[in-house]
Amino acid sequence: MTPVLALVGRPNVGKSTLFNRLTRTRDALVADFPGLTRDRKYGQASYRDMEYLVIDTGGIHGGEEGIDAEMADQSMQAIEEADAVLFLVDARAGVTSADEAIAEHLRRQDKPVFLVANKIDGVDADVVTADFYSLALGDIHGIAAAHGRGVTQLLDQAFAPFLEEMAALHQESEEDDEWADGEFGDDEQAVEEDAERQPFEDMPIKLAIIGRPNVGKSTLTNRILGEERVVVYDMPGTTRDSIYIPMERDEQEYVLIDTAGVRRRGKVTEAVEKFSVIKTLKAIEDANVVLLVLDAREGISDQDLSILGFALNAGRSLVLAVNKWDGLDQVVKDDLKRELDRRLGFIDFARLHFISALHGTGVGHLFESVQEAYQSATKRINTSMLTRILKGAVEDHNPPMVQGRRIKLRYAHAGGYNPPIIVIHGNQLSGLPESYRRYLMNYYRRSLGIMGTPIRIEYREGV
Ligand code: GDP
Ligand code: GDP
Repeated sequence: MTPVLALVGRPNVGKSTLFNRLTRTRDALVADFPGLTRDRKYGQASYRDMEYLVIDTGGIHGGEEGIDAEMADQSMQAIEEADAVLFLVDARAGVTSADEAIAEHLRRQDKPVFLVANKIDGVDADVVTADFYSLALGDIHGIAAAHGRGVTQLLDQAFAPFLEEMAALHQESEEDDEWADGEFGDDEQAVEEDAERQPFEDMPIKLAIIGRPNVGKSTLTNRILGEERVVVYDMPGTTRDSIYIPMERDEQEYVLIDTAGVRRRGKVTEAVEKFSVIKTLKAIEDANVVLLVLDAREGISDQDLSILGFALNAGRSLVLAVNKWDGLDQVVKDDLKRELDRRLGFIDFARLHFISALHGTGVGHLFESVQEAYQSATKRINTSMLTRILKGAVEDHNPPMVQGRRIKLRYAHAGGYNPPIIVIHGNQLSGLPESYRRYLMNYYRRSLGIMGTPIRIEYREGV
């Protein structure tokens, strides 16, 4: 469950300012998707412990073609895909006709809308916002996006339904735990240790198949499903949500997260669906392992890199598949391999496969990498091992001196998994150069045999 917020409003009301403030919480990578959408931006953000997505829909002018056409063209999909809409107006400018047109449109939607009056800094908020009650969208949330004023309160309101839902889920799982304790919990210690060791046993691997339109996602999904026993097949999908398909392969259960919409076997029905960035981003958030499909005939586009960026930013395990590798001549293949090296060289942890979804070539090997990535991401690593590896790394290659003093790396412990987090304690760590950080990362990756997942190393000063 990843909530989606859409920011809507005419130009200059402060949408990008608010967008930047919201996405800052997650060090978020913000991506434009050229060709797919006009002036739209997508970002990952977090509120309390909850991760969510935010879309800046770009400005709605209310120009000649008429606001409805423009809304339909540009912001409709975003609004449709959002769980809640933040409609921004400029508190200092008063109500404009574009505001009125947008408001009218939003009133017709069956969506929670929050009317946000921005730029209340240095003015009497009550006075300037009162004007906007005429838009008939209920309460007015005064904020100053540039300074952050009112933003937390706004999010408290916007996310209230989600927090309730999460609390309910949490409650349920606690009740389950209690029940389990009563039944099996004679030795609480043992139960806890077991939970520590094997939290993922018997859990299906959620595998998202993502990529831009036409790279061959549906063909690949059908190929995978055609070869394997499909436990449940037909599941209705909506525009904004992927189809979740449980399946089994080599005695491992999976849930395929199908962002393309499978075309049904034996039928000619084409699932003609609009490519949805939000759907892709939600699939990434929800997956354990992301399978990014690229098109050998098209090379690597900015769109591919944007999608990839989101997967990396979400810390997901990753497998790369270059599809349509069939029938290419050697020169083209060599060129493409060079391009891949050049543009994807920075992702040193992900396995790269050359496949043909159409003919099935290489598809089986994908699953080996998916397995490996998942195992790596969820592997339990003990603290003494991490410290031992750290000592080995330091012995092989000492950290540099900083202002005449040597940087001390003292010990390490595990800070989480999926992706694995390693916490290193020491002194003068802020002086540790990027090259040494990379060295440690690679050293850990090699020593632990971790492949397919990013590793995060956090540095803590002192003991
Ligand atoms: P957008 O076109 O809706 O994305 O608007 P921008 O975020 O680009 O903001 C338009 C202008 O309003 C910029 O000059 C911002 O610096 C300014 N602005 C945004 N938020 C605030 C605010 O909270 N207070 C004030 N005084 N100015 C703001
Ligand atoms: P999606 O939009 O990513 O789901 O892409 P599709 O699976 O619909 O494939 C787009 C087009 O590429 C179709 O015409 C497919 O037949 C073709 N295609 C898919 N995989 C391959 C492949 O491995 N080799 C070749 N030559 N064509 C492929």
